[in-house]
Amino acid sequence: MSGTRRVYLDHAATTPTAPEVVEAMLPYFSARFGNPSSIYGIARESRAAVDRAREQVARVLNAAPDEIYLTSGGTEADNWAIKGVAFAGRGRGDHIITTAIEHHAVLHTCQYLERQGFRVTYLPVDAYGRVDPSALADAITDRTLLVSIMTANNEIGTLEPIAACAGVCRERGVLFHTDAVQAVGSVPVDVQALGVDMLSLSAHKFYGPKGVGALYVREGVRLDNLLHGGAQERGRRAGTENLPGIVGMGVAIERAEARREEYARRLAGLRDRLFRGIAGRIDHVRLNGHPTERLPGNLNLSVEFIEGESMLLLLEQAGICASTGSACTSGSLDPSHVLLAIGLPHEVAHGSLRFTLGESNTDGDVDYVVETLPPIVERLRAMSPLYATYRRSSSVQ
Ligand SMILES: *Cc1c(COP(=O)(O)O)cnc(C)c1O
Repeated sequence: MSGTRRVYLDHAATTPTAPEVVEAMLPYFSARFGNPSSIYGIARESRAAVDRAREQVARVLNAAPDEIYLTSGGTEADNWAIKGVAFAGRGRGDHIITTAIEHHAVLHTCQYLERQGFRVTYLPVDAYGRVDPSALADAITDRTLLVSIMTANNEIGTLEPIAACAGVCRERGVLFHTDAVQAVGSVPVDVQALGVDMLSLSAHKFYGPKGVGALYVREGVRLDNLLHGGAQERGRRAGTENLPGIVGMGVAIERAEARREEYARRLAGLRDRLFRGIAGRIDHVRLNGHPTERLPGNLNLSVEFIEGESMLLLLEQAGICASTGSACTSGSLDPSHVLLAIGLPHEVAHGSLRFTLGESNTDGDVDYVVETLPPIVERLRAMSPLYATYRRSSSVQ
């Protein structure tokens, strides 16, 4: 790959840790190694560092520091919110509502709870990937314990009407959780304005380190503990803290919030340039997700008549890192559950590509993709039986 340009367009999968974040973390691997639960000097310094990070997270979310629980990432936060409320509410209710397009951290947790005897409603979405708050209202019963709806979808970038959905739940006395892992750092995430009871986030999606995240839990919400052991996190989440990671998350979220507006504006500009470039040079391309209510850095496309995996492979040879909408990486040949939920036929869902932009991307990167993709598509379509069939049928007419 030497000599080839490398363009990273998979920021929804993860982001590089910002240099100043790494810098802030480093002392906590060595000189400042004290266990925050101990009582001597360096331990007190560690405790203070954890408290500071908790305050940094709380400030950005407009929450109280006591409402922030530090976790090992977005997956743990989602698991804890959903299992915690389900198990704490067992007896009072047995019903959970979520959507068909959630991240697997939510979907697979809900499927696990179904095996434990809970009932789960998976709300459908419209062609843009949006949930209808009135469909949510209709799905709530007196057995409903929890509703979990993501703030922004990780595949197609669609933003959900969270304040409206949370409002419906509040009126009906049902707890509301949102997976905001893709949203934090890109769109405003204020737990008071949104009216949510619980919210998950993950540092490595906003230029922080991997393996650390947080769950916001509104004061007074009852949820069972997920990890049992020591008294960390006010006895609700045991285990010696990931001190360097937590320090990094605090610095990263403050940094992300300070640049958020400019970041979003810049990414939306690059994303639109990328879409215009591709759609102007390749026919039969469609945009997946909402045209405006979407994450600034997300571009999800279907290129008809060919396979996303083949495009990815050839893009990779040209140094471009992107992803498909499909779950082939997990060994499954089924197309993405998100693309099927927005109504794409299987063969179109298979031809999907996700580009997610980030801090390091430039106009030059976008132009490189716009130059590189059309010959790849042309090459693959030349070998595509679907395309040959289409050409025959359209030339007859
Ligand atoms: C990345 C992601 C997660 C998982 O977070 P981890 O910290 O990687 O466990 C959950 N939900 C969404 C929407 C994500 O994008």
